[in-house]
Amino acid sequence: MGSIFRDTFWNVPVWAQAVHYLLSIATLLILSYGIYRRVSLWRQGQKTKVSLPVKKRVKAFLLYAIAQVRLLRDRYPGIMHLFIFWGMVVLFLGTATVTLDYDVAHLIFRTRFLTDGFYLVFKLTLDILGTLLIVGVLLAAYRRYVLRPSRLDNLWQDAYQLGMLFAIGLMGFLLEAMRLAAFKQPEVAIWSPVGYLLAQPFWGVTKETIRPYYVGTWFVHSTMALVFIASLPYTKLWHIVASPTNIFFRSLRPAGELLPIENLEEQETFGVGKFEEFTWKQRLDFDACTRCGRCQDACPAWASGTPLSPKKLILELQQCMLEKPTLDAKSQKPCSKDLHGKVVAADELWACTTCRACVQECPVFIEHVEAIVDMRRYLTLSEGAVPATTATTLKQMTSQGNPWGLSKNDRLKWTEGLDVKVIAPSQEVEYLYWVGCSAAYDARNQKVAKAMVRVLKAAGVDFAILGNQEKCCGDSARRLGEEYLFQTLAVENIDNLKKYRFQKIVTACPHGYNTLKNEYPQFGGNYTVIHHTELLAQLVQEGRLGLSKPFYKNITYHDSCYLGRYNDVFQAPRQVLAALPGALLKEMARSRDRGFCCGGGGGQMWMEAKVEKRVNHIRLEDALAVKPDCVGTACPFCLTMFVDAAKVKGIEDSLPVKDVVELIAEALV
Ligand code: SF4
Ligand code: SF4
Repeated sequence: MGSIFRDTFWNVPVWAQAVHYLLSIATLLILSYGIYRRVSLWRQGQKTKVSLPVKKRVKAFLLYAIAQVRLLRDRYPGIMHLFIFWGMVVLFLGTATVTLDYDVAHLIFRTRFLTDGFYLVFKLTLDILGTLLIVGVLLAAYRRYVLRPSRLDNLWQDAYQLGMLFAIGLMGFLLEAMRLAAFKQPEVAIWSPVGYLLAQPFWGVTKETIRPYYVGTWFVHSTMALVFIASLPYTKLWHIVASPTNIFFRSLRPAGELLPIENLEEQETFGVGKFEEFTWKQRLDFDACTRCGRCQDACPAWASGTPLSPKKLILELQQCMLEKPTLDAKSQKPCSKDLHGKVVAADELWACTTCRACVQECPVFIEHVEAIVDMRRYLTLSEGAVPATTATTLKQMTSQGNPWGLSKNDRLKWTEGLDVKVIAPSQEVEYLYWVGCSAAYDARNQKVAKAMVRVLKAAGVDFAILGNQEKCCGDSARRLGEEYLFQTLAVENIDNLKKYRFQKIVTACPHGYNTLKNEYPQFGGNYTVIHHTELLAQLVQEGRLGLSKPFYKNITYHDSCYLGRYNDVFQAPRQVLAALPGALLKEMARSRDRGFCCGGGGGQMWMEAKVEKRVNHIRLEDALAVKPDCVGTACPFCLTMFVDAAKVKGIEDSLPVKDVVELIAEALV
């Protein structure tokens, strides 16, 4: 054994050690029961497949659960949480190391490994991480109880969690200080700088005087640590287990892909009408919520004063699951309240724009949108309870293949005088231009389609359109819960597309882009789909577009949720705007993956908004804050929402809103 080692149980009487071991056993039993009880709640969910590319999952786990990179997107709470997390992990590992050194190495093998240099480095590490833990806890308490950000609500569990961590950490330091003062070895003590500092008041005190204080503090410290561990599955501390588990099992599907209802014709009920119809993964989602409120902060529905808070929604569902839990995975015990109406109000569900800002911000990868659409599916298909205006929209999609209900035979009207090639079975084209309903029928968006044709022709792109055979892609129907209509439209479009030969599909609509790219493969439609901004960026790079000075100097660009957050296309539109000679891109404060929704997604385009402040008006203010000469968009819904907001504000003449392709068309030499 080395000359410097950890004197475990120094001064602790045998009876206290025995009580400690008995309490440890009780702790393990209470902990195990709690974990079993909680995991059994997940297991009561419906089956769902989770792919297991272990390497990818482990990598994501290390990145998001261990390095916590998502949490760090918000500097203060991120750093605070990292200090607490790593402090706890290292102190836990330190305690485990001491136990191994004493209970295994010393008592069984009569040797020690926690000695000399290793022991000194061990002490220093624990001292530093213990300090970070306490600093983290103080930062958390300051934020929670002094700064009080609106996204946080304070329950007794928060105070319990922080109070316990602070008390356990502080007592650990006091014990170290008393040990150092009792043994008086400055050459060892300097390896615990904080402990050494705290030891100064006791330095002149004798071992005998320190003895009873040490024993008392040790007993309280060790008992508190055991209570802390035992309470893990019964308090908010459960997120220490549930959150990393949820991160490990997170969805690896494309962000924009909603799962289909399989065998639709054979189903008796649709979507989620009762709590028991959620899958085990969704139950794990609900259980993993840490109440951090990041989702709520980012939510446009919440910002506009609707009843929907993604945080509240997930917590309501969590509460539903925790109520009257049963240990028997087979006898599913439902939530005592009706899911629809009592736990979740229809107004909450219909307020969602499906922008995914909540999912993007959630540090534990909870899938709010999927749960919302599942519950919408029940309202729409099982209850027929859709908001009045959307009922008409859905009918029109069914009868005319477009949400406006304009004649399906008029889909080509916008092309009059343009000489646009309609694809024929006999010929192959490089690009099939998927026009989309907005650009085909909406007067403002028809200008975008015309600009698109002009630019494609100027660049010599080989393209054609589908003409009257094109139907609504079904995005709004699917997000409104009308899965039957969506699947019908998808199958019809795929059948039509089968008749033609093309290499790629290009579209200016991010909703069509997302649906064709990520959701049509569910029905056998596999295509290379690109957004028009991606094609434009390529044409610019290849020097196929001669561009003169633009009409606008300061241009701000609004990221469409379905293009950016859903499909990671952030750079292409910016590259296109950067190619306009003399134009300056003015980024809004909320941009790229933190861009704020325009308010048009998830079927909101077809709903009457009864809100304090419309989402598009909030977003227009974001744009106005950077004093642009023009707002650039890359989505027909965003364009419409911006134009509407500018009209209400009376600035439609002074603030042009243009699709990126219109800006390029205007700048063509
Ligand atoms: S998807 Fe958007 S609107 Fe819907 S809950 Fe999430 S943040 Fe709110
Ligand atoms: S859902 Fe995610 S982001 Fe929202 S409060 Fe829960 S953990 Fe935080």
